[in-house]
Amino acid sequence: MSESIDQIDMRQSNLALVLSEIIRIPRSRAQLSSDIDMTKGAVGNLVNELIDRGLVALATATHSGSVGRPSRVVEAVPSRAHSIGISFSPPYIVGAAVDLAGNVVREEKETLVQRFTPVEDLIAITTAITTRLHKAVRERSPRSVLAGVAVGVPDLVDPSAGVVRRSPTVGLVDYPLVEELRLALGGLTQTITIDNDATFGAIAEARRLGADGGRNLLYLTGSSAMGGGIVSDGVPFRGSAGYAGEVGHMIINPDGKLCVCGNLGCWESEIGLNAFLALAADPEDPVRDGTIDGNERITAIVQRADAGDPRTLQAIEQVARFLGLGLSSLINIFNPDTVILGGYFIRLFPFLIDTVQQLVSRRVLSDDLLSCRILHSDLEMYAAAIGAGISAIDAVVSNPAAVPNVTETNPVAASF
Ligand SMILES: [Zn+2]
Repeated sequence: MSESIDQIDMRQSNLALVLSEIIRIPRSRAQLSSDIDMTKGAVGNLVNELIDRGLVALATATHSGSVGRPSRVVEAVPSRAHSIGISFSPPYIVGAAVDLAGNVVREEKETLVQRFTPVEDLIAITTAITTRLHKAVRERSPRSVLAGVAVGVPDLVDPSAGVVRRSPTVGLVDYPLVEELRLALGGLTQTITIDNDATFGAIAEARRLGADGGRNLLYLTGSSAMGGGIVSDGVPFRGSAGYAGEVGHMIINPDGKLCVCGNLGCWESEIGLNAFLALAADPEDPVRDGTIDGNERITAIVQRADAGDPRTLQAIEQVARFLGLGLSSLINIFNPDTVILGGYFIRLFPFLIDTVQQLVSRRVLSDDLLSCRILHSDLEMYAAAIGAGISAIDAVVSNPAAVPNVTETNPVAASF
């Protein structure tokens, strides 16, 4: 008797549920059956299919001390699938390979993305990083299936159309990035998605924090572009067209500096990396030389701050003030559990957090809002790429049946 479409759908969604639960917490089939309220027979059946596809395995039996046969724990096999996340994070293109469990397997970065980098170069660098990461994963785990590639881009991205609508940061307008990447990466995968880089950053941070403040979170990229990513009640908040979170263009100083968007005094033009460097140093100062590695330049700034250099400390103070004012508004609007500062704020964090906290404490509307923690990212420049990878690996978690059985001769031929 053949299964109806509904039965197939039901089986797929149950398969996805069992896999995601096992990835979250390895446990016995009996425990899983009780946790997800499904019969032991059905759970056993689904686990067997996941074993056949190489996505889970039975852990070595250990005797629990109780009478009878020990029940074996089912655990995920993270090395059975991987995805590749990329982010355009000026001045870098950053990549991360992520396994089935969302662990980072390998990271890479390459300079140089500037506003006027030819788009052919963006595609070529993205292709090169993706190919290298994929090869590196395959060398370690020859049976790993590539679930897909996701790319984070600053500014206005339309994820459903696969088009970068407007990204002044990398100089793209109405650019069909997904289509172009399919042409470039077609030999590797057809499963390519794009989203806002800060949204991906927020996804990575939410995963890192988990129940400890990750459910309602605001993430700031803190690069030359001041992107914001929002996770609300555990889910990325994208708005009606995917453009939500453009906090960098919140007007914070009407008499302020000209922004790339054409307005005056946006948050980005007051506290983005370029604005900060312009406050901290003269144009000929090496810290403003875009051809020098960004980390080296921030190290020089931190050394100056440590040494008490007045101009550096003043620049940090000014940025901290606008950062605190803007965050007060955002905390009032979104009521997050956690604000995560990324990009150059990570290394300047010790110098700016006191001013930021003071301003926030004075300006939020209720003491309840002060439970919001303001932290720096631990993922450095990789947050958006890692979040992109986590989002792409979902293609496997939500559709495990697309992964071939391990006995099949061509394990790479998954189609998501
Ligand atoms: Zn702007």
